[in-house]
Amino acid sequence: MSDKLDLIIVGAGIAGVSAAVYARRSGLTFEIFEPKLVGGQLFYMEKIDNYVGAEPGITGAVLAKRLSDTLENLQISPQKEKVKEIRQKEGFIVSTTNKKQYYSRAVIAATGASFKKLNIEGEDKFTGSGVSYCAVCDGFFFKEKDVAVIGGGNTAVEEALYLSNFANSVTLIHRRDKLRALDYLQKKLKEKNNIRIIYKKTVSGLKGDNKLQGLVLSDEQGKESQLSVDGLFVAIGVRPNTDFCDGLVSTDDWGFIVTDDKMKTSQGSFWACGDCRSRPLRQLITAASEGAIASIEAYKKIKGSYLST
Ligand SMILES: Cc1cc2nc3c(=O)[nH]c(=O)nc-3n(C[C@H](O)[C@H](O)[C@H](O)COP(=O)(O)OP(=O)(O)OC[C@H]3O[C@@H](n4cnc5c(N)ncnc54)[C@H](O)[C@@H]3O)c2cc1C
Repeated sequence: MSDKLDLIIVGAGIAGVSAAVYARRSGLTFEIFEPKLVGGQLFYMEKIDNYVGAEPGITGAVLAKRLSDTLENLQISPQKEKVKEIRQKEGFIVSTTNKKQYYSRAVIAATGASFKKLNIEGEDKFTGSGVSYCAVCDGFFFKEKDVAVIGGGNTAVEEALYLSNFANSVTLIHRRDKLRALDYLQKKLKEKNNIRIIYKKTVSGLKGDNKLQGLVLSDEQGKESQLSVDGLFVAIGVRPNTDFCDGLVSTDDWGFIVTDDKMKTSQGSFWACGDCRSRPLRQLITAASEGAIASIEAYKKIKGSYLST
């Protein structure tokens, strides 16, 4: 087991990186854990919107690299390990999938969220062979093909718009009679002549041998129809990556960690920030600011004092 650290930060998306920057500046001893590349969901973004100060057109991958450089400049090297479990015992014992244990006074969860699956037969088999959860990652493989996107929120509409730039046709399938996406995105949809929308239907089956060839759609009465497609992009929302702290902190009905407005969870010395937290707006700007707040609050608790800045 490690010496007792002041703080452990779990996850190096924008929330975790922001927490790490403030932890370094306030002189805490800490480790940040991230099994993948620094940046989290940034890698799913073609173009970043709504992040004030970012130059227009900046891609998620570019911002992710900047986050990684920020850590490097502050001599912070993430531990390339996934946190498997956290137990409370005179502080926290953090176990990783590499079977290592670390010991800390405080924890910040910044583990974000992952795409929800449809949970229908064949979904795993066709993932990577027609079924995808990320247009920016896989859209390139569907040049001049017919694809469908399932979902009705901002992400689904953004995925449909992105795919329409190179797919032959895009069918957006939504289970309700109206999209939930912001007005400006819906306006952009209307400007595209290769996107059509099917309302009040769900995808109930996947067709194909080794590659996806079509979808079975069901309406509200259970009546089925078929749609030929080469690709299906699933954009039906996200679920929080909070299994590692199951039972340790209070969560809402969907598993997102509940905090107060200072990111404090139900468990003493345990904070949560970003998309793993129960919150009304899941965006970069909120994740970054919450990481900073969580870190400063952890500092105050650990050192029993306030920063002068
Ligand atoms: C397609 C798409 C487009 C978007 N477009 C925009 C946009 O234009 N503007 C905007 O503001 N927002 C946008 N968002 C939302 C934005 O990306 C998120 O709100 C933000 O990235 C959340 O950051 P985070 O740090 O909380 O989580 P994440 O980015 O999800 O990072 C969490 C990190 O934690 C790691 N992790 C998870 N579990 C563990 C574990 N057990 N141990 C260790 N590490 C772990 C993960 O590997 C990941 O790197 C978009 C999201 C998507 C999916």
